[in-house]
Amino acid sequence: MSANTLFLRLEGPLQAWGDQQSKFVIRRTSEAPTKSGVIGMICAALGISRPEAGDGWLPKLGALRMGVRLDRPGVRWWDYHTVGAGMQMRIAEGEGKFKPGAILTRREYLCDASFLVALQGEPGLIAQLEAAMKAPKWTLYLGRKSCPPSRPLLEHPACHFPDLLAALQAVPWRQRLKKDQRPPTVDCLLDWEPTSEQPEAPDEALIWYDVPLSFDPPAHQPRFVMRRELRMGVDGEVKLADKPAQNDTLRPPRPRADYGNTEYKKRRQERLDHDHKLCLFCKSPATTVQHITYRRAGGNEEMDDLRSLCRLCHDGVTMLEYGLGMGLDRINPEEPRWRDLIIRKREKIIEFRSLETRRRRLAAEEVE
Ligand SMILES: [Zn+2]
Repeated sequence: MSANTLFLRLEGPLQAWGDQQSKFVIRRTSEAPTKSGVIGMICAALGISRPEAGDGWLPKLGALRMGVRLDRPGVRWWDYHTVGAGMQMRIAEGEGKFKPGAILTRREYLCDASFLVALQGEPGLIAQLEAAMKAPKWTLYLGRKSCPPSRPLLEHPACHFPDLLAALQAVPWRQRLKKDQRPPTVDCLLDWEPTSEQPEAPDEALIWYDVPLSFDPPAHQPRFVMRRELRMGVDGEVKLADKPAQNDTLRPPRPRADYGNTEYKKRRQERLDHDHKLCLFCKSPATTVQHITYRRAGGNEEMDDLRSLCRLCHDGVTMLEYGLGMGLDRINPEEPRWRDLIIRKREKIIEFRSLETRRRRLAAEEVE
């Protein structure tokens, strides 16, 4: 039977899959590759530019069903990046010197993550995409240009499968290093599609705004995503590969914070409930929590280690922390000494957002 499923192995030291929250000065990453990120990579392989993609390619590629297996979720990490934006920026030449042109942004990455992506569609298209990935026209990267892949993207040949889940179960899980512990389960994120038995998306379906309608200017529509847990091991749903993917090397000596940890999730929820789901700083609805200490991060947190914050205040605090050389103890937004600094950072972020929005509007008018 002709192959209807293309597999991509997305693995590297750094990956970054921006979602709709990834805008302006703080660019976050999703926990897994987004559909727009994967489609962007395919367009690069085909040699289709951003403006060209809108003419016919995006509807065709957006209709592919996508499933992602989170073989190694990775660790979140930060970097900074300068961008030109016509703003006055302090420069290194000395106190009080400013230069127009560049501003600092913060960028989040997933370190050492590994994903298996399955794309399903009409066999003719799948063959065309596989050929393009074998001989890409432009350089391929994992979400951001600074993120090269460390393994062949086409590690597994295209094949025929009845559905996405069957495809993701068929590829064995591979240890990276001999001493890496294998998890008891791996998560999958699968496109949800209506069936005759289930015409409406179930309550637990997630909504990801990452189906690209246009890359230039960026516009996305939502899709439903279902999370499935697959058991691993000899008798599990996902088999184990015999050999590790790479030879044994020393691991970097840093602790791995595990935000997927159930204990952490519980503590986080307790903190949000305790704060009535309001930002401790500005009383807007809280969507994040701030670790004021990382001493017990990764599942042993106590409620007092966390503070509920809205996204804006959290971004403000995160930007303040950057460059302060803080260790395990971080900014406590309740302490009066941070108050004015956080307010000023918040204003900066709001100002930059409006500037960037204006720039985008101008850019859209220019192409028309
Ligand atoms: Zn707030």
